[in-house]
Amino acid sequence: MTSNAGAPHGSAGTRSRHESVAVVWDDAFLTYNFGPTHPLSPLRMRLTMDLMEQMGLLDLDGVQRITPKPADDELISTVHDPHYIEAVREASLGGPGSPPHGLGLDDNPCFRGMHEAAAWVVGGTVAAAQSVWQGHHDHAVMLGGGLHHAMPDRAEGFCIYNDLAAAITWLLDNGAQRVAYIDVDVHHGDGVERMFWNDPRVLTISLHESGATLFPGTGWPDDIGGPDALGTAVNCALPAETGDHGWRRALHAVVPELLRSFAPDVVVSQHGCDGHRSDPLGHMEMTVEGQTALAADIHRWIHEFTINRWVATGGGGYSIADAVPRAWTSVAAEVLSVAVDPRTPLPTSWRDKVAQITGDPAPATLGDGAVEAADSLGINGAEGVGELASSHVLDPVGMAIQATRDAVFPHHGLATRQT
Ligand SMILES: [Zn+2]
Ligand SMILES: [Zn+2]
Repeated sequence: MTSNAGAPHGSAGTRSRHESVAVVWDDAFLTYNFGPTHPLSPLRMRLTMDLMEQMGLLDLDGVQRITPKPADDELISTVHDPHYIEAVREASLGGPGSPPHGLGLDDNPCFRGMHEAAAWVVGGTVAAAQSVWQGHHDHAVMLGGGLHHAMPDRAEGFCIYNDLAAAITWLLDNGAQRVAYIDVDVHHGDGVERMFWNDPRVLTISLHESGATLFPGTGWPDDIGGPDALGTAVNCALPAETGDHGWRRALHAVVPELLRSFAPDVVVSQHGCDGHRSDPLGHMEMTVEGQTALAADIHRWIHEFTINRWVATGGGGYSIADAVPRAWTSVAAEVLSVAVDPRTPLPTSWRDKVAQITGDPAPATLGDGAVEAADSLGINGAEGVGELASSHVLDPVGMAIQATRDAVFPHHGLATRQT
């Protein structure tokens, strides 16, 4: 932990270390395990929580650890078909799976206890939403969550139950009028989008690698929601190899105007870190600094345009020992309003453990050494942000941004051209 831990972070909005933040965790999340050769290893969660703990983030004033309960069938069935839940239960008891429900395919192999493991994740993200909505905490972090591909009637892309959709539905059922969902995972947030496709109360915004080069092949700018909810599904399909600057440009060009106009009661964000340059599945060029900057931007806008209720989850991320623990520790620090210098050396005991498990040298610092780039992006201050917000050059990233604005902004009464 750096010497400025616990100090107010920056000057943005009303955010401060005086906010209370729930960190939702239970070791039961580690039972969500498709086996030793599957990319979604529970080790990424173990190493992240260990790193956060060893850096002292869980011991700060105002930070409370919450242990959730697994979701019961009633809660899961708010977003999933009962026949699908039954199929997951059968697979969970050792059954062969059900390909029509996506169970037993390469991406979603069956394992004993998969129903319970997925129910824990739903319980965790719903607990995070409850804690924020009921006023116990300002923000909540649920790094075990973010299974954004799960569909109402089938598993998709490593995701059995859609914890995000369950949390959003719980919020709507308990008085929230409008919920905004922001997804910066490298993959399109297709499951969450599908579940609220025709619901004007939920604004889903997904920035992702274009479906032309990456699973699930969807998430095009003209996919804008159903007839009762036009403009409430928002997709920005970025070209492969987009780095920190391009991602941040897209976020700035799409999110703040929509958040201001939609004025959500609560924001749920998904911080899959598979846009990192070392991720084996995505083809993007982001750094830990860039991913943290996206979270910092979202944090600032939540204070600027909403009433400060924020649920932040994890998501994808398959660079298990290198990128995931560092990216999510850094993102969590942002939610906690703690400034942690990206040059901070990582604890020796944590690095030794990583080296022992992986056989490779562990990363030495929290960030990737992109500090100068971070400065030019305004990550360490306000400079650069204005340039980003008004960036409208029609290079491939600029064209992706413009297509999204053209498709969606008129439905919100917003100008499509950036000023
Ligand atoms: Zn805050
Ligand atoms: Zn992903």
